[in-house]
Amino acid sequence: MQTVTDAFHAAAGKSSFIRKMFEKGIELKQQFGEDAVCDFSLGNPDVPPPEAAREVLHRIADDAMRPLGLGYCPNAGIPAVRESIAAHLSRQQKMELKGKDVIMTVGAASALVCFFRATLSRGNEVIVPSPYFVEYGNYCGHFGGVLRPVPSKDDFSLDIPAITAAISSRTRAIIINSPNNPTGAIYSREELDALVRTIEDENARREKKGMRPLFLLSDEPYRAFAYDGAEVPAVLPMSRFAIVLGSFSKTLSMAGERIGYIAVNPELSEADGGTLVSTLTLVNRTLGYVNAPVIGQKLAAAICDSTVDLDVYKRRHDLMAKVLTDAGIEFVMPKGAFYFFPKAPGGDDAKFVDALLEERILAVPGSGFGRAGHIRLSCAVDEKIIARSAEGFKRATEKFQ
Ligand code: PLP
Repeated sequence: MQTVTDAFHAAAGKSSFIRKMFEKGIELKQQFGEDAVCDFSLGNPDVPPPEAAREVLHRIADDAMRPLGLGYCPNAGIPAVRESIAAHLSRQQKMELKGKDVIMTVGAASALVCFFRATLSRGNEVIVPSPYFVEYGNYCGHFGGVLRPVPSKDDFSLDIPAITAAISSRTRAIIINSPNNPTGAIYSREELDALVRTIEDENARREKKGMRPLFLLSDEPYRAFAYDGAEVPAVLPMSRFAIVLGSFSKTLSMAGERIGYIAVNPELSEADGGTLVSTLTLVNRTLGYVNAPVIGQKLAAAICDSTVDLDVYKRRHDLMAKVLTDAGIEFVMPKGAFYFFPKAPGGDDAKFVDALLEERILAVPGSGFGRAGHIRLSCAVDEKIIARSAEGFKRATEKFQ
């Protein structure tokens, strides 16, 4: 039997791909200079936060000097912040939420960890369409949960029959991430409707047998990043088993300030006397997060309806598409987020990543995201770097022709 430690190491091994490239980048930059390296390895948002953050931060600084200004706050978050985020999410998710339906977390990462801690028993499975954000495996592996990747179609849309076939009595949740890291896919309303029907059918069967339900977990830190009029459907009202989590890491460029949230469909949040929300609040405390950072909570609450300058990302997106097309690299045009997941010329992602390294271009092999034969490129870099990489992509590709 696989132990919790084995499961953790198996998943951790995969995620270290990104870290390895990051470290390689530091090495190359030290050797050849910052400007000589095109680093597409990490999704650390570099666009400044909205200008409004400046004045809000000054106000928060004044507030912080009062007694308990920087003290502990309730484990689920500052009550007024929960209300503000609930109002923001009500608009975004097109359903009325109250503060009681929302928990403030230490980024989307800890929202995921709390959810898995609260719901998984050893051996439970979490289905994820692959390719996927590789940390999911680590997060559920901490609690003996096992990630069950189900390959998406070639255009990265959901393969509903394959997902349905993967559901067993061990399955506790299906996690979707749209706009997606690493593919940039945005799932359509039709795909989501079909997924929800599968979950509702399964839960109707489970209810008859007195079994625990299957949750739909929607991880949405990239919700604001949708290009060319693409719509990101609201998932929360689609099912009473839906939970949406996200953060302001990318939309407000405050990844280091670690502010995220979990929003629970109100019917689910009220079920069993509010057990799920109170369990999530408890584990948020006992896992050692205690409460989300108070400065970040106040900042996010004040500016959550704005975003960073999304036009910057759109320009990068279009430029990267041109660079790849000119190099003859095949890819599915991402509809959102800020990643590209093209095919590796020659078919071997590790070899192509090595060829790119020779051009001082850093990419991450798709194997690290559960789909070999592809590479992931993060466009959290200046346009100039994308433009500068063009010749390197061409030369690297020519080696495989
Ligand atoms: N989910 C996905 C798909 C991500 O790409 C990331 C970060 O890159 C996270 C969750 C965690 O983000 P954070 O904890 O910064 O909100």
